Amino acid sequence: MEEKVALVTGGIRGIGEKISLRFLKEGYRVVAFDNDAGRLNDWAETQKAAGFEKIDTVVCDVSDYEQCQAAVASVLNKYDHIDALVNNAGITRDATFKKMDKSQWDAVIQVNLNSMFNMTKPVIENMLTNQRGRIINMSSINGQKGQFGQANYSAAKAGVHGFTKALAQEVARKNITVNTISPGYINTEMMQAIPDDVLENIKAQIPVGRLGEADEIAELVLYLCGDKSGYITGSNIAINGGQHMC
Ligand code: NDP
Repeated sequence: MEEKVALVTGGIRGIGEKISLRFLKEGYRVVAFDNDAGRLNDWAETQKAAGFEKIDTVVCDVSDYEQCQAAVASVLNKYDHIDALVNNAGITRDATFKKMDKSQWDAVIQVNLNSMFNMTKPVIENMLTNQRGRIINMSSINGQKGQFGQANYSAAKAGVHGFTKALAQEVARKNITVNTISPGYINTEMMQAIPDDVLENIKAQIPVGRLGEADEIAELVLYLCGDKSGYITGSNIAINGGQHMC
């Protein structure tokens, strides 16, 4: 059987790393994109030492259209097909709108929203030719409900929903699904740095009473990329412990 290829942006840290590892366990070849060459090499060596051989790493800033085009072309030169694209890379530059400057606005829109165009554009042609594909776009609970101090991030993540729904309609007949995942509070490095009392306050607002785990996001990604999920497209799957229901 032909090897499946999954491309994960921001695929070596936090949620993206768990997604990459889950794909590897499932037998996919994983191509992890990140903008830091040194960290990519270290990560690939660590994973190969742990027995995961089917890894490629590509240095690419997802906010740069030309870089994305060249990087995706290099993957397709090598493998001919991309079965799953996970647009996961994201950043925050928080400030209340009164204090937010244009560079904070631009950076967040470029990395979280323009990256959807930059990465999906060169990949979709290949999926259309092959008449198969799975695209997962990482959004956030804050793109659904908005968040104080995150006008830039909330706008970008809300834009991801519109992008997903429009593209899903355009490619559905070609056996390509496009879905959004909206995580709530996930137990990543960022959360581990929060003081205990603040963390307890956050957990109190979550009906299931705990943070989510990146592994839980990865499990959902694998399901959405599998053969049995072909009827799910244009959907947003919230994974937030019941914190925001709609
Ligand atoms: P992390 O900051 O842990 O990881 C993000 C990854 O994306 C990093 O490896 C980062 O690289 C990479 N990245 C950032 N900018 C670029 C860029 N321009 N080009 C290429 N790679 C880039 O984030 P999380 O794992 O926490 O989040 C993953 C996704 O999930 C994001 O889209 C985030 O918005 C979303 N999300 C996360 C939640 C959470 O609780 N953690 C909640 C809701 C949504 P580098 O380290 O070099 O910057």
